[in-house]
Amino acid sequence: MKKIRVRIAPSPTGLLHIGTVRVALYNYLFAKQNDGDFVLRIEDTDKVRSTKEYEEDIISGLQNLGIGGNEGPHVGGDYGPYRQSERTEIYVKYLKQLLEEDKAYFCACSKERLEEMREVQRAAKKPTRYDGKCRGAGESSGVVRLKIPEDRGDITWEDLIRGKTTIHAKELDDFVIARSAEDPLFHFTVATDDHEMQISHVIRGEDHVSNTPKHILIFEAFGWELPKFGHLPLILNEDKTKMSKRKNKVSVDDYLAEGYLPAAILNFLALLGWNTGDEQEIFSLEELVEKFSLERVHKSGAVFDLKKLDWINGEYIKKNIAQDIDGFYEMVKLFIKGSEFDTQSAEGEALIKKILQDPDFEGRFKKLSELEEGLSPLFAELPDYPYELIAREKFKITAEILKEVLEKAIEKVEALEWDKGDGTKNQDISEAFVSIVGELSLKNGQVLWPIRVALSGLERSPNFATLAVYLGKEEVLKRLEVALGKIEG
Ligand code: GLU
Repeated sequence: MKKIRVRIAPSPTGLLHIGTVRVALYNYLFAKQNDGDFVLRIEDTDKVRSTKEYEEDIISGLQNLGIGGNEGPHVGGDYGPYRQSERTEIYVKYLKQLLEEDKAYFCACSKERLEEMREVQRAAKKPTRYDGKCRGAGESSGVVRLKIPEDRGDITWEDLIRGKTTIHAKELDDFVIARSAEDPLFHFTVATDDHEMQISHVIRGEDHVSNTPKHILIFEAFGWELPKFGHLPLILNEDKTKMSKRKNKVSVDDYLAEGYLPAAILNFLALLGWNTGDEQEIFSLEELVEKFSLERVHKSGAVFDLKKLDWINGEYIKKNIAQDIDGFYEMVKLFIKGSEFDTQSAEGEALIKKILQDPDFEGRFKKLSELEEGLSPLFAELPDYPYELIAREKFKITAEILKEVLEKAIEKVEALEWDKGDGTKNQDISEAFVSIVGELSLKNGQVLWPIRVALSGLERSPNFATLAVYLGKEEVLKRLEVALGKIEG
């Protein structure tokens, strides 16, 4: 059987796009499960919009996610990728062949003539297509057009995802494949590369459906064996419009910078247009290789659900904490940059790891960018918070109630002993505070809210027991007193 070879062919005209990663992932999974090859090809023929920075971002981004390609022309050192800008000679050679075989021709029509022609067609309510003026004219320069055989008819292929797909002949004309004999254009370079690189399956986004007949025609002009084509559904915003920068972040760098873990991003993207049919939602890359199937890729668009990404990321955070706290800490370090965090010394590291593993703390965070805010109450000075924050109206906390609660809390803390940072004392501390609810016949919120605010000075923070454990008895008493002071003041 022919070796399975697939590719991802990004244009370096922007930072690595989340949609590109999904297409890359599906290709990667398909290649891996078939013992095939996954080729990375940089399509940098658009010299104006392509930049080296974008190229670097795409290559390193895919590699960091673990789905870079596995071959390329640069032997000795790292592999690949292929760059179309380095392959002009190949395209020019093939272009020459088509011209010599009269399967393509030069077109010298001026812009003005073409514009006029289209005007007339539009006025007659006809599709705008090239009228073939230069088809037999024997021009020797100009743009190069593909000569579509008169009797070619509709173009149909069995799409790996969409099934039988047809583009009608009347939608196609002798399209331009090169700006000149030396300057091949997008469709031509894609088709010749897919042939040269022996790509067996072209799996790409649905936005390329209308390009596929053009590529098929180029393959046919040469008499090359066609690859199979599959078009993945679009990624949609929540309002079902095509995913756009205005409604979602689209660059992978942005997601990484927010503290989404690479494995979580891949897991999320795998589910964006595919599922196993059962309930499973968390998959390692190895499991995806095993379970993914092109047959189960959906035909319709997939909504980008940020809440689901958050949930998946939270699961990965928990998994990392449980399985590889050292590796996880290396990532965490990059996200807690505040001067209050001692990430350099062994004690600082041990303390932070302990907090991360604290069952009251882990799982409260959906992404690493939330960690700094979450951890800082345990390290930073108590901020000067307003009285209204602690005496929250919603919980009907009057000055009398607040005073009673805080005094009772001080009494409870005084009766307890714990070593600062001893997570095994969470339970005792928690029970002591919770018992105030019953003893004073109050509601949970009337007791636990003010205690937590007294300890953190913040609207959002780790839970009161975690705070107490890591602040230590002395600091807890001090902070409860500060809160009491706010009542008189
Ligand atoms: N370079 C094209 C893009 O970035 C992809 C072409 C293809 O996959 O065939 O959209």
